[in-house]
Amino acid sequence: LGRRLNSALGDFSKATSVNEELVDNLLKTICTALLETDVNVRLVQTLRSNIKKKINISNLPQGINGKRIVQKTVFDELCTLVDPQVQAFTPKKGKPSVIMMVGLQGSGKTTTCTKLALQYQRKGLKSCLVAADTFRAGAFDQLKQNAIKARVPFYGSYTETDPVVIAQEGVEKFKKDRFDVIIVDTSGRHQQEKELFAEMVEISEAIQPDQTIMILDASIGQAAEPQAKAFKETANFGAVIITKLDGHAKGGGALSAVAATNTPIVFIGTGEHINDLEKFSPRSFISKLLGMGDLEGLMEHVQSLNLDKKNMVKNLEQGKFTVRDFRDQLGNIMKLGPLSKMASMIPGMSNMMQGMNDEDGAIRMKRMLYIVDSMTEQELDSDGLTFTQQPSRVFRVAKGSGTSVIEVEETISQVRIFAQMAKTMGGKDGILGKLGGNP
Ligand code: GDP
Ligand code: MG
Repeated sequence: LGRRLNSALGDFSKATSVNEELVDNLLKTICTALLETDVNVRLVQTLRSNIKKKINISNLPQGINGKRIVQKTVFDELCTLVDPQVQAFTPKKGKPSVIMMVGLQGSGKTTTCTKLALQYQRKGLKSCLVAADTFRAGAFDQLKQNAIKARVPFYGSYTETDPVVIAQEGVEKFKKDRFDVIIVDTSGRHQQEKELFAEMVEISEAIQPDQTIMILDASIGQAAEPQAKAFKETANFGAVIITKLDGHAKGGGALSAVAATNTPIVFIGTGEHINDLEKFSPRSFISKLLGMGDLEGLMEHVQSLNLDKKNMVKNLEQGKFTVRDFRDQLGNIMKLGPLSKMASMIPGMSNMMQGMNDEDGAIRMKRMLYIVDSMTEQELDSDGLTFTQQPSRVFRVAKGSGTSVIEVEETISQVRIFAQMAKTMGGKDGILGKLGGNP
């Protein structure tokens, strides 16, 4: 989806003048791509008519400004799609907050409980878990193992069979112990059964949660919407966590579900590991989807790691991209590790790493680093064009770095692509400018 949207926007930027046909084509590509990822038809239609209304074709300035208005509108409306503009509950220090997790069996409740507890714990909130799933055999053990791994206190029982009793006892105990965040895991079922809903309501009434979070599996496609609606009616959850957004899940169904229930997504699960939970931000999500990189997430990450971000982001905002920026990015990702995850945050990098595993990717990046390290200062400050104009430079660099001419040429063409992207998307009024804020 990202690549299709990205190329649709790219084609659009290349066009010389903006007209109705061009805009229609762009919208058509975007809508088809969204439908293919299981976003609900109604939603796509609304998106399309909203964009058309806002753009107001007949009053659009010609040339680059007109195009930017269109791109910005598309971007904003895509963000609106995943942003119901409802503030989700956030727990605070010094007052116990009870969070209840609901969702079908296998959606990722138990896994996400621990991930969430760990996130809050890192923020300085005293967090704990209550295992109120007595339906699934081994559910308590599963939670217990995760909790021990994450060093999060937990409550559960091997003998008590009433989940309401366990939930109530656990919550009471941890409230007495002055925990800030008490996360209650509940059981799921294979389907939306009456018993499940009855149990959910009973637990909810017993523990009076401050927040109920629905866990939605991204891979279930169109089924997500009716499921979320049914849960909303009974459990009235106030937030959603979408899991399994790693791998090849299309996720559009889950997004439609969120729109249909007017409930914000608070986190997304991106893997089985305990750290694979990311805060959800509509703008970051959409920019990542469009292959523009998650600059917000990247900046947060870079700041937290105290890395050398040099002028990269600033350059990008001005629509510039040099070999030096490329080198800095390579250096940064090598330091940051899990390559695939970092690469997806950086504009253009995800395309470059497509189809490669982390190991192959790391080798390729290392060789690219040798290549850029063999360049002169002046070459580093160029956008790569200097190599195309003087091929002898390519030979010199290949020799100096112990790589091949082909590899050097690939590296240069990669920089050229980024430079082109920076030019079309960058600039203060461009999408990147809007995204980036003040680095
Ligand atoms: P529950 O039945 O709702 O409690 O679901 P579980 O927490 O037991 O998770 C079901 C399966 O999904 C487990 O194998 C988890 O490891 C896996 N899982 C949960 N969240 C994610 C995720 O974000 N990504 C991936 N790849 N797997 C996940
Ligand atoms: Mg479970």
